[in-house]
Amino acid sequence: MKGFSIIKKETYDAIVVGSGVSGGWAAKELTEKGLKTLLLERGRAQEHGDYPTQSKRVWELPNRGRMTPDEIENVYPVQYRSGAISEATKHFHVKDSEQPYVEDKPFIWVRGDQVGGRSLIWGRGVPRWSPMDFEAPAKDGMGIDWPIRYDDIAPWYDYVERFIGVNGEPMKSRAIKDGVFQKPMELNAGEKYFRKCIEDSFPGRTMTIFPMAILTEALNGRPACHYCGNCPRGCLTGSYFSTQSTTLPAAQATGNLTLRPDSVVHSVIFDEQTDRAVGVRVIDHHSKEMIEFYSKVVFLCASALGSTQILLNSKSPRFPDGLANSSGTLGHYLMDHHFRVGGSGILPGMEDKYYIGNRPAPTYIPRFRNVGGDTDRDDYIRGFHYGGGASRIGWGRGSSELGMGAELKEKLRTPGPWRMSINAFGEMLPNYDNHVYLDSEKTDQWGIPLLHVSAAFGENELAMRKDMKDSAGEMLEAAGATDISTYDAISRTVPGDAIHEMGTARMGRDPKDSVLNGWNQAHDVPNLFVTDGACMTSSACQNPSITYMALTARACDYAVESMKRGEL
Ligand SMILES: Cc1cc2nc3c(=O)[nH]c(=O)nc-3n(C[C@H](O)[C@H](O)[C@H](O)COP(=O)(O)OP(=O)(O)OC[C@H]3O[C@@H](n4cnc5c(N)ncnc54)[C@H](O)[C@@H]3O)c2cc1C
Ligand code: SF4
Repeated sequence: MKGFSIIKKETYDAIVVGSGVSGGWAAKELTEKGLKTLLLERGRAQEHGDYPTQSKRVWELPNRGRMTPDEIENVYPVQYRSGAISEATKHFHVKDSEQPYVEDKPFIWVRGDQVGGRSLIWGRGVPRWSPMDFEAPAKDGMGIDWPIRYDDIAPWYDYVERFIGVNGEPMKSRAIKDGVFQKPMELNAGEKYFRKCIEDSFPGRTMTIFPMAILTEALNGRPACHYCGNCPRGCLTGSYFSTQSTTLPAAQATGNLTLRPDSVVHSVIFDEQTDRAVGVRVIDHHSKEMIEFYSKVVFLCASALGSTQILLNSKSPRFPDGLANSSGTLGHYLMDHHFRVGGSGILPGMEDKYYIGNRPAPTYIPRFRNVGGDTDRDDYIRGFHYGGGASRIGWGRGSSELGMGAELKEKLRTPGPWRMSINAFGEMLPNYDNHVYLDSEKTDQWGIPLLHVSAAFGENELAMRKDMKDSAGEMLEAAGATDISTYDAISRTVPGDAIHEMGTARMGRDPKDSVLNGWNQAHDVPNLFVTDGACMTSSACQNPSITYMALTARACDYAVESMKRGEL
């Protein structure tokens, strides 16, 4: 490697790159199956429970939870645009100023580089995919056929859900499969009313609690959630799934894990004689030394764009455009979900009904469009779902209420009326032009070429958004809501904003048009696996992480069985 003196280190059975949602799962599965595994994480060490803002009240935060103008402008200018970062959570996000990338077109890349990755800040919503999601590209021709079907992954969803603990209730939906659920969190009075109105007015539609990777029953020493509501600051009781609470302890308990934080993986080392990956090159975060680690199998779990950046940077005479890229599709077909569209309104009555606690779960209206029969549309394909919730309007309404003095005070002594909000997430179609590539000159402080991102929503997404907005209004009207307002904030959102970026090293049946096969295994390099969002062939509209976990567990099982047969 030009410019580096290389330190050569020990050999492991397996190397896993990235310790977030997918990497934690790979580390657990591989170590439990007996492989001596090195887990490499570019970010800092992060102990479970070391969550400094978790229990702080807003007045205990120096800026009352807000970012300062200086931080917004100079440190977190990208992620601030997502709204997913605050004074209370910023320590779980990378500093945009220290890890730049190039937005050829606007793209928000929200990253949490520490041990645990974004599992410490994620929203925890975990709806499964359904058979129709895996079949869609083959049926409508938009994208390539998935090399797997729902039945291939179903046992792995079961396996993952049993271990992480997911609460939810049967969905009564054609578009989504039920998981292995703990008892559900309860809908409040306003939500139960809204559900009944939807079911009465729109046969085939329903509303339920969002399936969440949060315990409602104790599991493997982790207690049930106590509704503190501060999830994005870390969970002291480990009641929601994170690498720290769930997969890392399991991996560590085997005695087979070596965890190395502050290890920025630069590239995968490829041996042209054997067509195998033989290890990875790491730049130490602090010393900037290059170190090589070797293994029999490599799992990339560095997040969709992180893994693709590593592959693009792994060049060799055989793969001058990036490792495992004989198809030329590496970096292409970047997807996200599209959102910031929906509606809200005031529900009538129920003024004697209250609720307590901060339930950390929204409501869920599963997809009801293009699921067959009279739900099919001719103006767009695929579909969307809604998250939302009902609550009573609080004291803050005093600032806009007419009135003053004792009369106003009296009015504000009780909560205001019920407001129901529903906000949609839609599928984004794969498009070759939505892609990432490496800068030919500019590098980051570790000598890794900067990633360029170029992606935009297409006509199908825009047509779908009209329906996402109109359907929200229609359901609120059917519930007798007043003051209904619907919105489509397309001007305030761009790809990446939904933080479900996926694709760029997609799975497929044919090595000519895909990077990975149906086992997340590189077509070109049999002992190289990519099991994060990079592997996704299409995006569906469901939150994706539970599918990454199931695919990862499945791929690990396959890899270890193949190793036993001497095939890798
Ligand atoms: C606010 C928020 C809400 C979300 N809500 C949901 C939700 O409700 N449901 C859902 O399904 N998803 C949700 N997501 C998305 C979810 O967090 C991601 O899908 C998930 O974390 C992806 O898992 P991953 O393992 O691929 O990546 P990550 O969890 O991001 O982990 C990747 C890890 O790889 C490391 N890494 C990257 N590059 C390198 C390198 N070169 N060398 C070494 N290490 C590297 C990173 O530091 C990181 O620790 C949300 C995300 C955010 C931020
Ligand atoms: S609301 Fe529940 S899951 Fe969230 S941080 Fe509090 S205890 Fe943990």
